[in-house]
Amino acid sequence: METIAPFLEVIDEIKEAGGDVFKLCFQCGLCDTVCPWNKVRPFSMRRLIREAAFGLSEVEGEDIWRCTTCGTCPAQCPRGVKQIDIAVALRRVATEYELFPASVKSARTARASLISEGNPLQGDRKKRADWAKDLSVKPYAEGMEALYFVGCYLSYDPRMKRVATATAKILKSAGVDFGILGDKESCCGESIRKTGSEQVFKDLARANIKTFIDNGVKKIIVSSPHCYHTFKNEYPEFMVNFDVVHISQYLVELMAAGRLVLKGEYPKRVTFHDPCYLGRHNGVYDAPREVLNKILGLELIEMEAHGKNSLCCGGGGGRIWMDTPREERFSDIRLQQAHGVGAQILATSCPYCITNFEESRLNLSYEAVLEVKDITEIISELL
Ligand code: SF4
Ligand code: SF4
Repeated sequence: METIAPFLEVIDEIKEAGGDVFKLCFQCGLCDTVCPWNKVRPFSMRRLIREAAFGLSEVEGEDIWRCTTCGTCPAQCPRGVKQIDIAVALRRVATEYELFPASVKSARTARASLISEGNPLQGDRKKRADWAKDLSVKPYAEGMEALYFVGCYLSYDPRMKRVATATAKILKSAGVDFGILGDKESCCGESIRKTGSEQVFKDLARANIKTFIDNGVKKIIVSSPHCYHTFKNEYPEFMVNFDVVHISQYLVELMAAGRLVLKGEYPKRVTFHDPCYLGRHNGVYDAPREVLNKILGLELIEMEAHGKNSLCCGGGGGRIWMDTPREERFSDIRLQQAHGVGAQILATSCPYCITNFEESRLNLSYEAVLEVKDITEIISELL
């Protein structure tokens, strides 16, 4: 193992990102016990913290890029160590020196696309609202009930455009006066920040905040838990606060107000996968289940790893852009868990989860036995 030692900048970066909290680590190893990586290959956050504390981090290696920022180990660490902040700080150092191992190079492509087009998928900025062309979705105007912030994957990815369409249909059916920002919308910046590109995050956040303010935005509906997390918990760093609501929460509101009326029954066995950034990072566990439980005929069954113990799909922390060998994908395990409890549908509410699950569905040849759906896709079938 090659190390850059002693790398004082690592210590400084970590101090800046998370204070001196890493010094509290007493090397108990609990983080390694709960980390999903150790279901597929050896990985030690405990060791990363130990090396970082002495400035001996191997910043050119693969390990600093593994953490999916799933939030499992920070929630259980007996000493309150901020493992995610430490991982991000190490990535900031690697990014500054352009030290990217082969599996991470595609994250660099995503970063370039974010800088030039405002999305990580190399989509043309001008085509951001093309998914809505035939749906007569209005551009957002001041005074509307809410802005629907669509997000990058739902705007450009062919599979995820179906979720954007389902969401727009639901909002229209409930009579919500909403609009979208189209090519004025930029990536929320959550994931690129976790890869250590702090300046790119700041530029994206400032662009969105300016657009929100210029357009008089107050209430924002989001589909992605990553947008939800960063608008709610990270944009306040810029001294702004918007009323952010995840679509699962908004569906509960619409149903309670009698605005969203569902027709017919849905006689399927469904299990719900808690996305890390909806559940563990923001405590939203009940809303999606409330929505599913309101559907006549639908049988909601739980996987053993659910709620705060949900298994990460593998897509957080910018991992969605990095290469993960087939035998190391958490999403394969998740699909097997869903199939194991007898579910016909694995439902969730996050573009990264759906992207990873659809790929695993193909890899495992599960096409005939398990469907993957966003909760809005299920609801839109009942309008
Ligand atoms: S769980 Fe906390 S205290 Fe224990 S090794 Fe991990 S970071 Fe250190
Ligand atoms: S946050 Fe999740 S992926 Fe990262 S080290 Fe902790 S348990 Fe592992």
